[in-house]
Amino acid sequence: MTIREVLINIRERLQNAGIEDFEYESWAFLDWKLHINRAEFYMNPNGEVKEELLAELESVLKQREQRVPLQYLMGECEFMGYDFYVDERVLIPRQDTECLVELAVEDIRNIKTQNRCESNNTADRKNEQKVKVLDLCTGSGCIGISVAKLCPDTEVTLADISEGALSVAKKNAQNLDAGVTLIKGNLFENIEGRFDYILSNPPYIPSEVIEGLMPEVKEHEPRLALDGEADGLSFYREIINEAPDYLNPDGRIYFEIGAEQGEDLTHLMNERGFSEVKVHKDLAGLDRIVTGIYSRK
Ligand code: GLN
Repeated sequence: MTIREVLINIRERLQNAGIEDFEYESWAFLDWKLHINRAEFYMNPNGEVKEELLAELESVLKQREQRVPLQYLMGECEFMGYDFYVDERVLIPRQDTECLVELAVEDIRNIKTQNRCESNNTADRKNEQKVKVLDLCTGSGCIGISVAKLCPDTEVTLADISEGALSVAKKNAQNLDAGVTLIKGNLFENIEGRFDYILSNPPYIPSEVIEGLMPEVKEHEPRLALDGEADGLSFYREIINEAPDYLNPDGRIYFEIGAEQGEDLTHLMNERGFSEVKVHKDLAGLDRIVTGIYSRK
C-alpha cells in the first residue's frame, strides 16, 4: 500500500466512526505510526508502507474506531508545554484548565515579588517561606506539577482519592522532575497543615448530563473524575466548606468550573466568607475559573 492509500484509508475510517476531527487525526496517526509528517508525505506520497508498520497502525486505529481517545492511545497529552503521561485512570488534561494554571502562576509570582520587596535584609530572605500549594483532585497531576515547574519557590502537594490517578501523577512528577508530595484521600481527608493556595478542578458535570457526552468522554474517561452528582456542585460545596481550616491567612482558592456554574460558585464562596470572589473567562469567552481569598477576621 502507498502512503497516500493509507492516509485515505485512515481518514475514511475515522470519519465513518463519527470522529469530528478526522482530518487532523489522520495526519496525527500517519506521523505517530508511520513516522511521516505532512511535509514528508508531500515529498513522496507514493512511497510503499512496510507491512509491519501497517499492522501496528491497524491495532491502534481499531481502538480509535471504538472511540478510545487519541491521548490514551498515545499515552501522552501536552499541557502548559509539558508532556504528561495519561491513561484511562485519569482525566485527559484540557486546554481550559491551562487558564487556571496561568492565573495561579501569575498571582504566586506577584506575591513572591511583594514579599521580597518587603523583606530587604538577607537573613529574612534566607528564611523566606515557600508558597504552599495544594492541588485537590489532582488526576494526572497536570495543575500542581505545572505550578511546581513554573514557580520553583513553591511546595506543592497533590491529592486524589484514586490510587490509579496517584500512580499516574507520580509518574508525571518523576518524568518532569517536579518535587511534589502525593497524598491519597477523599478531598481533605489526609491533608495536614495549611496552604497559601488551593487549586482544584473537581468533578463538576451533573450526573445526568454525562450520558449525553461524546463516547470518548462517557465511555473512556473515569466517571469518578467527571461526576459532580445531581447538580454538579457537590465537590465545590464540600471543598468550600472545609477550605478555611486548610488555608493560611489570606489564602486563596482557584477552581475550574463549568460554564454555567459561575453564579452558584460566587454565591457559595461569598456565603462561606471568601472575599474578592471573581469569575474569569476562558479563551472561548466562557466562565471557567473562580477565585477567592479567605481573610480570617
Ligand atoms: N486535575 C486534573 C485536571 O485538571 C484532574 C481533574 C479531575 O479528575 N476532575 O485535569
